[in-house]
Amino acid sequence: MNIEHTLDTNTSELLSELRKEVEIDFQQKDINYCEVFTQNGRSTIFYNPNIVDNESIAHELLHIWLNRFNYVIGNHIFLSFQSDWKLSKVFNKFLCDYIENCFDHYKMYPKYLEMGFSPEKFIMNGLEEKCSIEDIKKLHLKFLSKYKPDSINRFIGYLISIYADHVDNNYEEHLKLLEKKEPELFRIVTDFWNKWIEFDIENIDAIHNSDIGLAESFMTEMEDWIEYKKLK
Ligand SMILES: [Zn+2]
Repeated sequence: MNIEHTLDTNTSELLSELRKEVEIDFQQKDINYCEVFTQNGRSTIFYNPNIVDNESIAHELLHIWLNRFNYVIGNHIFLSFQSDWKLSKVFNKFLCDYIENCFDHYKMYPKYLEMGFSPEKFIMNGLEEKCSIEDIKKLHLKFLSKYKPDSINRFIGYLISIYADHVDNNYEEHLKLLEKKEPELFRIVTDFWNKWIEFDIENIDAIHNSDIGLAESFMTEMEDWIEYKKLK
């Protein structure tokens, strides 16, 4: 099966538009989702021919579309904190990739809707709650007055997953619980997300609208927050 022949008009058009700038190819793989791997201006979309649909290909194409704006957030945080003994434990590759992905999703979702697709197929289990009350209740940031890096990591991930949810699930209770656990960390992550909402990816500028500047103001706040805390 040639996947390209099965795509609907909007998805095919997006594919041809992107191909003016980047090489895009498709490869079958035994996975239950779709993913894209990009290196040196060449993107490969991996898909499973038995479960693939237009929405998931469109989703990956939209990730490729975002590459043209060339912002770095997650990877910048990951690399910069590598040499920080506390924060490198919190900001592992998984969390930084997750942040990057959620940030991407927020910026590509309007275009996905414009293409005529529905919210439930934007991501797997698209309509479901992205973080549960039970998970938050199980989260203990400290043990014997020392902070646990893995729990800080999850705190940030949970909060970002809530903010990045593209459907209007009710998270009032979740947010209250998280804020109560660690108000200052809650504020820092919330500010970071709100700045991303405002951030204009189409007009990145080193002085007035900088992706690195945005990541670094978050990083500085994280450094201040963690400075006098003991870590396990
Ligand atoms: Zn995605």
